[in-house]
Amino acid sequence: MRRPSRRRGSSLPEDCLFCRLYQEGDHVREADGFVAIKDINPRADVHLLVIPERHVQSFREIGEFEPDEAKRMLDFVADTAREAGLEDYRVVLNVGEGAGQTIFHLHWHILGGHTMGLP
Ligand code: AMP
Ligand code: ZN
Repeated sequence: MRRPSRRRGSSLPEDCLFCRLYQEGDHVREADGFVAIKDINPRADVHLLVIPERHVQSFREIGEFEPDEAKRMLDFVADTAREAGLEDYRVVLNVGEGAGQTIFHLHWHILGGHTMGLP
């Protein structure tokens, strides 16, 4: 499998929760370079997180993904929602502390059904 590269601007992943969960979490879905897990504090009937293996701090660094990797990540988000039985859902990406990001490893929220506490 292609290993993710670390570049300038990325924080060190050694103590990163989502790097660890990528390796050893309870995955509801896996593909080459991506996993989906259940959010520990669900804010919707279905609340999944898609985590790429590649550690970048946030969506601001999306340019560090290869074009095909970024496309595969989007497909993985859509396929994960479909396989969770969702037709209508939200995809949320918090970028930066001011937007509510608490874990600084890029991840996508998939929220389906009744959502709580979201605008
Ligand atoms: P964000 O606030 O966008 O950075 O999202 C981080 C999300 O990770 C939150 O929705 C948390 O509930 C979730 N979270 C934190 N720790 C864990 C964990 N150990 N397993 C699953 N989800 C987690
Ligand atoms: Zn990480």
